Amino acid sequence: MPRPISATVSVSALAHNLATVRHHLEQTAAAASGLPPSIWAVIKANAYGHGIEQAVTGFSKAQGLAMLDLDEAVRCREAGWGGPILLLEGFFKPSDLDLVDRYHLSTTVHNREQLDMLARARFTRRVDVMLKLNSGMNRLGFSPAAYPAAHERAMLLQQQGTLGSVGKMTHFACADGPQGVTEQLAVFNSVTHKMPGAISVCNSAATLRFADIAVSTPAQTHWVRPGICLYGASPFADAEATSFGLKPAMTLSSEIIAVQELKAGDSVGYGAIFRAERPMRVGIVACGYADGYPRHATTGTPVVVAGIRTQLLGRVSMDMLIVDLDPIPAAGVGAPVVLFGEDGPSVDEVAMAAGTIGYELLCALAPRVPVTRDA
Ligand SMILES: *Cc1c(COP(=O)(O)O)cnc(C)c1O
Repeated sequence: MPRPISATVSVSALAHNLATVRHHLEQTAAAASGLPPSIWAVIKANAYGHGIEQAVTGFSKAQGLAMLDLDEAVRCREAGWGGPILLLEGFFKPSDLDLVDRYHLSTTVHNREQLDMLARARFTRRVDVMLKLNSGMNRLGFSPAAYPAAHERAMLLQQQGTLGSVGKMTHFACADGPQGVTEQLAVFNSVTHKMPGAISVCNSAATLRFADIAVSTPAQTHWVRPGICLYGASPFADAEATSFGLKPAMTLSSEIIAVQELKAGDSVGYGAIFRAERPMRVGIVACGYADGYPRHATTGTPVVVAGIRTQLLGRVSMDMLIVDLDPIPAAGVGAPVVLFGEDGPSVDEVAMAAGTIGYELLCALAPRVPVTRDA
């Protein structure tokens, strides 16, 4: 028997979340008498830990898929995805362009070196690109001063038959927080407003809070790039995913594999950092940081055992963690445990208790955890 831990990925939750985001975009567009933007479903990092194949099925109604890794792009094609694929970091070496050509990928272009490589490449068909502006995050993209010349070069490569469409793109640093997108959006608009082409600026946070900036017109298509919300987790520290009608797509579950009866004063786990104040029962769960559960989760982190909410106690070890069984006197060895996901705490609650974000926990799911795919 394998250890009782497993992750269940719900393809229907992925599809539901995509439909929920689309509905939100349609409503926003209707209120502004415009057209809803198209959606690049972001499936980088093995679809935020959910698996590329699951994502390709769950997001079959997206207009496009976006990721970082050329290998993941190839896996999408092999899984049957025929629609647009956008490489969010672009390509890295001239030889990557063979794959771009062969698998008909679209690519972000964010530096001069990439333009040089495109200019030297020989393609069997035109390559669609999104030219990225650094509007203030200072990670990827041409500076506002360099962008017009880069755009001119891209237009020249288009005239020469190398490039197909040339769109405009940027990425927001603070769409999830009080600073919002105003400043970066103003930079983006002032640099790009006279240039033709599709626009893509919104991640999940901007898609959920500022969808009005992504309303398309008959003349100009917008593309949004939601990631985390499509997996049913929240991009915001102050809003739950369920408040947007999103459903968790990954559920991490396990079982109680041992029970200990503690006397007052007894400790449990490494470092003896939890000490019982009175006699209590604790359950040992087959899940630890080597499964991807955060070691920084502290006593009090929510866990659901046999359908009842309880808490983590003491330190998470490599393969096990300890839970309080006082609220669940009937639970013994074999009792089901949900660490996060459907019928458990949300991944965001667990992340918060560990001082991190849901993104990190989803991506951290360890390869040793078997993934079951749910319809
Ligand atoms: C990861 C990423 C996204 C999606 O971000 P979420 O916060 O998960 O929605 C969008 N655009 C780019 C360029 C990204 O790298």
